[in-house]
Amino acid sequence: MVTTVGNRILAASGTTVFVTNTRLAIEHGSVNLGQGFPDEGGPVSMMNFLADYTHQQSNQYPPMMGLPELCQAVARHAERFYDLKLDWSGEVMVTSGATEALASSLIGLLNPGDEAILIEPLYDAYLPLVRLTGATPVSIRLNPPDWSLDLDALKRAISPRTRVIVVNNPMNPTGKVFSRDELVAIAELAIANDIVVIADEVYEHLVFDDLEHIPMMTLPGMRERCVRIGSSGKIFSLTGWKVGFISAAPALLKTISRAHQFLVFTTPPNLQAAVAYGLDNEVEWYTSLAHRLQAQRDYLSDSLESLGFVVLPSRATYFLTVDIRAVSDDNDVSFCRTLTIDGGVTGVPVSAFYIGDAPDHLLRLCFCKDMSVLEDAVGRLRRWRTVAA
Ligand code: PMP
Ligand code: GLN
Repeated sequence: MVTTVGNRILAASGTTVFVTNTRLAIEHGSVNLGQGFPDEGGPVSMMNFLADYTHQQSNQYPPMMGLPELCQAVARHAERFYDLKLDWSGEVMVTSGATEALASSLIGLLNPGDEAILIEPLYDAYLPLVRLTGATPVSIRLNPPDWSLDLDALKRAISPRTRVIVVNNPMNPTGKVFSRDELVAIAELAIANDIVVIADEVYEHLVFDDLEHIPMMTLPGMRERCVRIGSSGKIFSLTGWKVGFISAAPALLKTISRAHQFLVFTTPPNLQAAVAYGLDNEVEWYTSLAHRLQAQRDYLSDSLESLGFVVLPSRATYFLTVDIRAVSDDNDVSFCRTLTIDGGVTGVPVSAFYIGDAPDHLLRLCFCKDMSVLEDAVGRLRRWRTVAA
């Protein structure tokens, strides 16, 4: 008989909440507002470009660091939006989604015995990836409902062994946009303690209410010690394409690329080329996406409030969170199940974004869905609330 326990760190992480809850939604025929993927597809011109490229150009291994045309487009994008000047041939690397960018960054930068600071609630991949490197995760928590950063807690978390801080801004699952003051404070601590900041900025274009996205890399002193991660999945609503990018100073990027070369080596060239095309030619599409999403956020948020839910402010991303205490005595995991089975709508319990003991009164719901899907969800919730009353 074969032994199948496998890697103990991964065994302890189990299956991600996104997979289990999508399964749950399918099983019960509920509206899936759990896993974060948009209903709308990306720009049609990118699909056409992809098809043409696939037929007419090379489908063999592209360069390990990425197709030059995509590295160049990523550099142009950074300059266009943030006045951030990057050398495309030494400071940009294409990855297989932001997930691989995170994995390569953490594996490339951390050694056993190092510490990595993570900010809870945290995107689910961070913790197992840090643990797999042999480094120790050290977490601090933002405080709901406004998700403010406790700077003293961050200072206390830093030790001589801290090598990395991961900052997800805009933040999944909270929809928080870090203020400039918060980002500057993190940057100052990073500089003072010789720490690298891994800035997961996949939702950079999905910011609402006229707020501004401030890349960590543009702050004073951060050009040399920030790893900036982006994802075409979020920029173009093409989450299945899995084309991501890292921008970092040459020495950092070289270190990270040592991991990338053994994890994936490359990303499909046709997808890279189509993303390069989109970054330059579909600017209007992706800069207006936030406007469309904001309307969906407003609809879902207002409808939930009218049904008695307490909705926490969401200023960015695909997600909003509700405080379920106003409508249930259950914890978030059990409420999520009940809402799926009895209410016909599936979310994600926010406790899944914590290490260990967690707040258990928050549920994350996606609003990056067609209006008809959101209306269906709201209709189901209204009926469920009426029956419950
Ligand atoms: N970081 C965050 C905060 C995310 O929400 C996601 C999920 N989409 C990722 C990284 C992974 O992005 P990708 O699909 O490009 O791997
Ligand atoms: N990032 C998406 C979310 O937070 C899901 C990613 C995934 O399914 N792994 O819902």
